Amino acid sequence: MSEPSIFTRILDGEIPGEIVAETDRVFAITDINPQAALHVLVIPKSGEYRDVAELAAGDPSLLAEVVDLANRVAAERAGGEFRLIFNTGAGAGQTVFHVHAHVLAGDLQEKSLVG
Ligand code: 5GP
Repeated sequence: MSEPSIFTRILDGEIPGEIVAETDRVFAITDINPQAALHVLVIPKSGEYRDVAELAAGDPSLLAEVVDLANRVAAERAGGEFRLIFNTGAGAGQTVFHVHAHVLAGDLQEKSLVG
């Protein structure tokens, strides 16, 4: 088995992290290196999917739950409009291979990419 990801370790309380919302299968944390006024990561609790393509193929309803929690957090914290980014593959800027959505909102005029 592979090592638990940094996100699994935050979920398990092994390392600090600010969990801002969660459901049975999904949780949201503030990004340690924010790229916008609101920058939250929405993450399936299971680390079995490396990226959004694997997640979409393996459990589309879980992908829908990720989008739903992103929408909820953006509604609660940033007026409901947001950008959703899944870096997919190292060449596209992905550094943590436990699928996660970047939710960005506020102060986005100059920003087009995360990573
Ligand atoms: P990726 O580059 O894989 O798309 O995104 C990984 C994200 O995880 C980055 O935006 C990075 O700032 C964030 N990150 C990395 N380590 C930690 C950590 O220990 N805590 C939190 N809250 N975010 C982290």
